[in-house]
Amino acid sequence: MKENNSYDVVIVGAGPSGSSCAAFLATKGHSVLLLDKAVFPRDKTCGDGISGKSTRILKDLGLSKAVESQPHSIITGVAFSSPDGTMVEIPIPKGPDGKVSYGYCSRREVFDNVVFQNAKAKGAQVIENFTVTDLVMVDGKVTGIKGKTADGTEKTFNAKVVVGADGANSVVATKLGVREVKPEHWCAAIRAYYKNVKDCKQNIELHFVDGLIPGYFWIFPLDNGMANVGAGMVLKDMNSQGVNLKDATMKVITDNPKFKERFAGASLVGQWKGWNLPFGSNKWPVAGDGWILVGDAASLVDPFTGEGIGNALLSGKLAAETISQAIAAKDFSKNFLFAYEKELRKEVDPELKNSFRMQKLGSHKLLLNFFMHKAAKNAEVKEAIADTLLDSNSRKKFLDPLFYVRVLLS
Ligand SMILES: Cc1cc2nc3c(=O)[nH]c(=O)nc-3n(C[C@H](O)[C@H](O)[C@H](O)COP(=O)(O)OP(=O)(O)OC[C@H]3O[C@@H](n4cnc5c(N)ncnc54)[C@H](O)[C@@H]3O)c2cc1C
Repeated sequence: MKENNSYDVVIVGAGPSGSSCAAFLATKGHSVLLLDKAVFPRDKTCGDGISGKSTRILKDLGLSKAVESQPHSIITGVAFSSPDGTMVEIPIPKGPDGKVSYGYCSRREVFDNVVFQNAKAKGAQVIENFTVTDLVMVDGKVTGIKGKTADGTEKTFNAKVVVGADGANSVVATKLGVREVKPEHWCAAIRAYYKNVKDCKQNIELHFVDGLIPGYFWIFPLDNGMANVGAGMVLKDMNSQGVNLKDATMKVITDNPKFKERFAGASLVGQWKGWNLPFGSNKWPVAGDGWILVGDAASLVDPFTGEGIGNALLSGKLAAETISQAIAAKDFSKNFLFAYEKELRKEVDPELKNSFRMQKLGSHKLLLNFFMHKAAKNAEVKEAIADTLLDSNSRKKFLDPLFYVRVLLS
């Protein structure tokens, strides 16, 4: 621990965004303090789906083998179903190198610990059981954080840059006054672990079912006969329809003809848990004088799939690059750190925009039925869906009117 409690960078939150940022910075030789209110390994309410974007950054972190050495399942395809029960199974397309692509399902208690331990191994100092409560500001610039250890001792740490990686309820983003909860851009989601759900393959399953539209019900197969089962809905729609997410999800499990058989011999392991997802369709500032936000604290979750781990890891990496340059230039001003915001927006905005439009299309029941019918028979529709799995920019295809004309005529 540094004697004067001063670091190049203090990172608040050691989830995927904070731990990836810490590892990239520590590797470059910067002094990094990584703080988390939890003690690892810790659980995080999630679907546990680790898709293509995540696997790319895991490679950059040198963590692919470490993730695969822990309990996980390999995902080679996606299964969709429409409200009328039409089901389509699509293998994840091969990557540009012609190699078979796949993702993982890995329980967050396991996955996040791998990313966290790596940050420690790369040289970041860590304090667990430490809750950040406030920012230290001097002349409008962030110069550190205040917080409490488990026994209530108050401590202050100083930094050239403070990184807010503290998730959807980010204290850092809240104290900076940038965090916004707009119900049309937030999603409520719940998940539970089940054992022995019948007929699980190596597919993640997204089901558009009555009672949960707009939104979806998922079954993600894990290792050891387990599955992550859950559902999510845009907060605004959930409130306006008066949906109780847990009741609606249990109804699917016990009453829906497609699922009641599959869950007949299954047993719940642990409890249902819920959490919120800040969608990237709403943008708030992510860089300022002496501060940067990453992951959910920067509102980067994909509004169509609900995937946030990929952008959490990516934003951690991009933030580390800008911060490292700022340290070299000895410039921690908003002007300098804004390079991160610019780069991040360039990387994620096009796909977030497409995903938001896809979310809107997914709220039309008839359209979902129509598409699933076509996809069951039409190679172009199947291919378009498959492309979106690897590259969310491919969702543009769904926004091209000519595509619909071709589908209609097919
Ligand atoms: C039900 C559900 C299902 C999801 N399914 C998927 C999925 O299948 N695939 C996918 O890619 N994404 C999924 N997501 C989204 C994904 O979970 C998040 O996008 C991702 O966890 C963001 O990572 P993060 O590092 O930004 O934040 P987090 O993982 O939330 O980590 C934040 C960390 O900050 C710590 N912290 C918080 N406050 C403080 C504080 N004051 N002081 C110190 N530490 C603090 C927390 O303890 C935590 O460790 C899902 C989300 C939900 C809710």
